[in-house]
Amino acid sequence: MRRPLTSAFLLACLVAPGALGPAAGASPAVDPAARTAARPCLPAHGLLVALTIRRNIENGSEVTEPLADGGYRITRCDTQGRTTLGMTVLPIRDTGGRRDLLPAVIVRRKSIVAPTYGDPVGDVRYRAVFHRALRKLLASVLPRTLGPASRDPHFAVSRSVFAGAAAVSACQDKTHAESPGAWPDDRYAWRWNAKGFGESTSTRTALKKAHEEWDKTVTDCSGFKDTTHFTTTFDGSTTRNAGVQDGYNVVDKANLSKSSCGSAAIACTWIWRSGDTSVETDTRFAKSVKWSNKGSAGTYDYQGVGAHEFGHSIGLSDLDDSGKLTMHFQATLGYTGQRTLGRGDILGARAVYG
Ligand SMILES: [Zn+2]
Repeated sequence: MRRPLTSAFLLACLVAPGALGPAAGASPAVDPAARTAARPCLPAHGLLVALTIRRNIENGSEVTEPLADGGYRITRCDTQGRTTLGMTVLPIRDTGGRRDLLPAVIVRRKSIVAPTYGDPVGDVRYRAVFHRALRKLLASVLPRTLGPASRDPHFAVSRSVFAGAAAVSACQDKTHAESPGAWPDDRYAWRWNAKGFGESTSTRTALKKAHEEWDKTVTDCSGFKDTTHFTTTFDGSTTRNAGVQDGYNVVDKANLSKSSCGSAAIACTWIWRSGDTSVETDTRFAKSVKWSNKGSAGTYDYQGVGAHEFGHSIGLSDLDDSGKLTMHFQATLGYTGQRTLGRGDILGARAVYG
């Protein structure tokens, strides 16, 4: 059985009221009714932070959870408290060190899309991709709820953790967040589109290892026995494409800019679900950037980025301030640290499949 949802965490840098993101002209719209509604708008697995901003909207209500560095998660619900749209918006490093707030996880009623952004400082190819897509991407951001954050009566304090931010090692950082949906019987089978990867057997091995990280709890951290009972099965090659719901869990490598994930991603994972049950997941690696299996300079690591993507597939969400964890939201050139899970990654997997 699944564990009770006790995975809420506190981010280290709760943004002070008054410093909440982009200044806006409209007056704060804190609606007491939204705060005490019979069916509160709550993200799956509960709130991440104790301080939120709520308001009523047409046909429902919304709640914004301020995260570190100006990031936030916003969840919109219908009058029955069912999620209609959710978005985790994180500060993505731009060229020149600027940070743009961009969507990292988009939750719709029947699907979730998780784009992974590249390294716009070190990666010349990606820089061009990023800038081409930026305006459209900025326009797609669901704005945060205006007004000061206040203590949310629906925040369930559990084993809340103050992640020590950047200084914390992968084995100390307990931070994790979950997306809606989990796999029945704690398993799924996947195929790869060999052609897109140039039929490379070393890449196939890397993608298998990336799945196994979650199956076997591959970690350098001591004290973590493999208690996460999740199983993925490799079902061979397919000519099917990622990004379309067709009953097959497909990993491919192709043009991402024209997919429903869109634009500025170097990789993307889709999850389709029926209610709380995941029914399909696909992952695409972008053709527009360089990949390798050796952690070479100037390339992204198939296994490491794959492990991050497959973490989305099993139900984990992006983290904005946990640079040493596999579920950290942004990929860095030549980095292979995501080949082993950190403490928060494992706690997240256990929270869903304990
Ligand atoms: Zn991600």
